[in-house]
Amino acid sequence: MALDPWIVKALVLVGTALMIGIRAPHGHRNRSVKVARSYRTRLETGLLVLAWIGFFVPLLWVASPAFSFAEFPLLTGPLAAGVMCLGSGLWLFYRSHADLGTNWSITLEVHEQHRLITQGVYRRIRHPMYLALALYSLGQALVIPNWVAGPSNLIAFAILFALRFRAEERMMTEGFGAEYAAYSARTDRLIPGVW
Ligand code: SAH
Repeated sequence: MALDPWIVKALVLVGTALMIGIRAPHGHRNRSVKVARSYRTRLETGLLVLAWIGFFVPLLWVASPAFSFAEFPLLTGPLAAGVMCLGSGLWLFYRSHADLGTNWSITLEVHEQHRLITQGVYRRIRHPMYLALALYSLGQALVIPNWVAGPSNLIAFAILFALRFRAEERMMTEGFGAEYAAYSARTDRLIPGVW
């Protein structure tokens, strides 16, 4: 049975508010953190713009009929699976920010007092925040019954991740040398025990 997409519109609004609410205090606090070395390239700036577009398209879907041509019926199965992805993604987004603390940054940079975090959700994987974003955007793809707004965040995130993680790991290797090499040797990237 097809459900009323208003349920999803409420979910998208609450999820977006929680994402912003989790990140905002860290963004605010980090304005006073001193950057030792920035690795922000033009590609990196382009990827951040793409990520913002991917993040806002679902809001446009909530607020306007812009993507009504791409609508399809909302079903219970994908909705339930999507809610689980959204919930676990939000939890991991919260935890990874809490564990990274002042070491977090929106772009690639090493701070003056940067410490390598290897505990909490960083104990088994090197990119829990990216896993959180993957889960959250997969959740949106499952719950939003629209071919444009559903996968927009997932596509933008997949491109960002694919073009960023090697540069990030190179940067961390330059910054932390043997400590990061040892950490990399005992952890996986995204999925514990898999990759
Ligand atoms: N890739 C990580 C962090 C994303 S935030 C994740 O998915 O969880 C990006 C910034 O976090 C990078 O600029 C880097 O400076 C910092 N960073 C990444 N891994 C870190 C770690 N293990 N400890 C401390 N800082 C880290």
